[in-house]
Amino acid sequence: MDAIAAAQVLSEIGYLLRQDPKEVYRARAFSAAAWALALERPDLEALHKNNKLTLIEGVGEGIAKVLAGLVESGQSSYLERLRAETGQPARDDESAIELDAYQGDLHSHTDWSDGRATMLEMARGAKALGYQYLGVTDHSPRIKVVNGLDAERLLAQSRAREQVENEVGIALLQGIEVDILEDGSLDLPDQVLEILDIVVASPHVKLRQEPMAMTERMLRAVNNPHVDVIGHPTGRRPGSREGASYDFERVFREAAASGVAMEIDCDPARMDLSPEHARLALELGCNFSLDADAHAPAEFAYVPMGAWMARRAGIPMDRILNFKPLEALTMIAK
Ligand SMILES: [Zn+2]
Ligand SMILES: [Zn+2]
Repeated sequence: MDAIAAAQVLSEIGYLLRQDPKEVYRARAFSAAAWALALERPDLEALHKNNKLTLIEGVGEGIAKVLAGLVESGQSSYLERLRAETGQPARDDESAIELDAYQGDLHSHTDWSDGRATMLEMARGAKALGYQYLGVTDHSPRIKVVNGLDAERLLAQSRAREQVENEVGIALLQGIEVDILEDGSLDLPDQVLEILDIVVASPHVKLRQEPMAMTERMLRAVNNPHVDVIGHPTGRRPGSREGASYDFERVFREAAASGVAMEIDCDPARMDLSPEHARLALELGCNFSLDADAHAPAEFAYVPMGAWMARRAGIPMDRILNFKPLEALTMIAK
């Protein structure tokens, strides 16, 4: 059991625990420990042999016990129990996700909006992980609190991007995480969206719109010819905020027809789409984007933590954009 596989187990436990409001703190502890494993990639066998699993950041006695079980048997009885209790048992049609083949993340933030690192730091972080490309998708202007980018600042960012790209030697895709407004229009004009490499359109506000209106809103976004990915498609935050509810079947079907990918946002606070919705989107023909939505380089590790969602949804790697080389992402620049 390597650290990444163990991180996914702890991450799934964190996810299942979050469904019980009383377990929010324990859920966070499991997610934090998963993150430490994904970041540090410690040698679990050696630590277990020397009785030192608690030396891992965020790993106390309880989580160490789960890890010890994983090292010894390759399985977690605790996870199995949680799966049974929450009615989400293992299935025999899960897929295999080879994270070594991950080519790049399509959704990330810098200090141009609400990220906590510079574009240079983000690019270096992605490069250090061996990524071929990184989508720089800061927020659009509507979200004032995060200093969203209007056309003028996007242009300035694009100049800075070129410099960073040359300095670090990684392809930076000039993009935006554009807000899906209440009526389904987007927070930047088409003339701006069309010159970007990648457009992630996300719902952030008024998530509890009545489902009919929400369906129309999402359909309109999916039908915008410049949209490439729908970011965290429900906006939910398991354990604290319910996400948007809409006619998922209709929206996913339309997304598949328009070549718009649905995101699996691996941030442990989001985990959106859920495995169940992702499975439905898969059946209806959608492609996916498996992103960290990183606001700092360390958060790129959310992808190895969250990859279990794609596996549980049975999504084959060829339906996930991030496993494609840059050259195959030409649909991105539509
Ligand atoms: Zn977002
Ligand atoms: Zn984001």
